[in-house]
Amino acid sequence: MRRFILEVAMMAMFSVTAGAPALAQERGSAPDKYKWDLTQLYKDQASWEAAKDAFAKRIPEIASYKGRLGESAALFYSALDTFAEMDKELSKLYSYASFSYDLNTRDSAAQQRAQAIGQVAGDFGTAVSYMTPEILAVGEEKISAFVKAEPKLKPFMPFLGNILRMKAHTLSPAEERIAALAQSKMGGAPGSIYNVFTNAEMPYPEVTLSTGEKIRMDAQAYTKYRALGDRADRDLVFKEFWDKYGEFKRTLGTTLYNAVKAHTFTKEARHYDSCLQAALDRDNIPTTVYTQLIADVNANLPTLHRYLKLRQRMMGVDQLRYEDLYADIVKGVDRDYTADEAMKLVLAAVAPLGKEYQETLANGFYNERWVDFFPAQGKRSGAYSSGSVYDLHPYELLNYMGRYEDVSTLAHESGHSMHSYLSNTHQPYVSADYSIFVAEVASTCNENLLLHYMLDNTKDDATRLSLLGNYLDGLRQTLFRQTLFAEFELKIHEMVEHGQPLTGDSLNALYLGLLRKYYGEKEGFCKIDDRYGVEWAYIPHFYRNFYVFEYATSIVASTSIANAIRQEESAKKPSVKARDAYLKMLSSGSSEYPVQLLKDAGVDMTTSVPFGAAMREMNSVMDEMDAILARQKK
Ligand SMILES: [Zn+2]
Repeated sequence: MRRFILEVAMMAMFSVTAGAPALAQERGSAPDKYKWDLTQLYKDQASWEAAKDAFAKRIPEIASYKGRLGESAALFYSALDTFAEMDKELSKLYSYASFSYDLNTRDSAAQQRAQAIGQVAGDFGTAVSYMTPEILAVGEEKISAFVKAEPKLKPFMPFLGNILRMKAHTLSPAEERIAALAQSKMGGAPGSIYNVFTNAEMPYPEVTLSTGEKIRMDAQAYTKYRALGDRADRDLVFKEFWDKYGEFKRTLGTTLYNAVKAHTFTKEARHYDSCLQAALDRDNIPTTVYTQLIADVNANLPTLHRYLKLRQRMMGVDQLRYEDLYADIVKGVDRDYTADEAMKLVLAAVAPLGKEYQETLANGFYNERWVDFFPAQGKRSGAYSSGSVYDLHPYELLNYMGRYEDVSTLAHESGHSMHSYLSNTHQPYVSADYSIFVAEVASTCNENLLLHYMLDNTKDDATRLSLLGNYLDGLRQTLFRQTLFAEFELKIHEMVEHGQPLTGDSLNALYLGLLRKYYGEKEGFCKIDDRYGVEWAYIPHFYRNFYVFEYATSIVASTSIANAIRQEESAKKPSVKARDAYLKMLSSGSSEYPVQLLKDAGVDMTTSVPFGAAMREMNSVMDEMDAILARQKK
């Protein structure tokens, strides 16, 4: 099953300015051209239902190859082809169910469809669990001979190569079946308990702001109100919200402890040296990429501290505090953008990626209805792009409100969509899906291009300051904050690997130490109250097994790539080498391992070179801001 690129982190990462802009539009009253057309997938719900039932009946077909994969090249091909074809169909069924549910999560029929296809997917997963161990049993030598005898097997080589590579960590068919059952029946328990508790049952506090407004301060409200302009209000929001989390640190510490223990189960059952190695092996990423990111960020904390100093100066406060990090540093320069303006801006911004890229995206916007723009009652919050319908086109879900950050989200999701489009077009189904390690490069590269397009077309100092300040906030949150998370995640796994239990208190102490180190509390850059030690309890990504670091590595890689492409453009030389290398990466799916894909696109993530380039860009942005502030005599 193919992955959806969900922007859970992005939503938690970027602050939302309070109050809806004037141009905010509801989905219900918007013309069809701003909405998905799910009849492109299935004519109606009845035909989806029929297709789902037909699929479920076919599951025994894939099971019938069990124990026979080594018989002949023809049979081996037939099994793999059936698997790929069924997986593709399942992805389409699954997509329709989740898309329609996401458009209206209050629709119980849609919820039932999503649950029903979830069960079918589980049955399919168990039915095909024999394939990996059996492919390994057939062995490399025989598989090579099969490929020679049956050329139609060639497209399956990256898929097979990845399985053969993991031989030392794959178990017997009987053990793999138990592992698949354990995963589908129990693996998600800590994460789902966490989600239900924090989303539905945690007694979030009610906060009364200085305006008299009363707000139930749940996680979503917090991401909005932590950015309030009034400092006393902000302090209140932080205090109430985090004290409430503090009350539940034991429960939330226990769920996190058990999530980490489940990772140690995988590590031990599959014979890995560490949980980190087990998690990164999925995409063949060396653990040094992870540890080096942490080392690079730690070595460059003075750049973060320079940003904190700048923020303090622009906010005009004597002492910057943790409560100040999300407030706007430049006030009142944002304007509203209609959805049409947003599409135009994004299309203009991606011009450096070439005509074909631009025209394909325009066709997606204007003819194929890739994007569902506007919020509605019951529509899933946040944003995502899904390339899971291989034969059709990508789908982008937005909750477009008309702010600059919404334009940026459109650029971001369209980066994912074009990646899916190009990989689905150029790769066979089995190698079209790309890993998260490269996914967020495609999205953040477009954000970078949009920023520079806006800067190139903005003379006004105040707007430039706002754009540049926004960009720095993004780097603070994507690069530094996510790496802090990554360092925390690594440490808690190491603790459990060494037999140390995790408790609310030990997690708090560890997290607070990292916060104070990153934000330079000792050197006086940012004051951090003890109560923020519990912030770990608010991050759902810690249930996703070494995931957050990919946000940080992606922004490092995309900064380098976007820089190279822009330089080619401005040099007016007839070279498009960097651009073509990047487009090739976008068209490669998973036909090559992600670290190699990035290397071919010009960034070697096993070295500190791309990180150094990102730090240079961050510093040059701060140089420009210093210059503007000097002109304004601030
Ligand atoms: Zn993304």
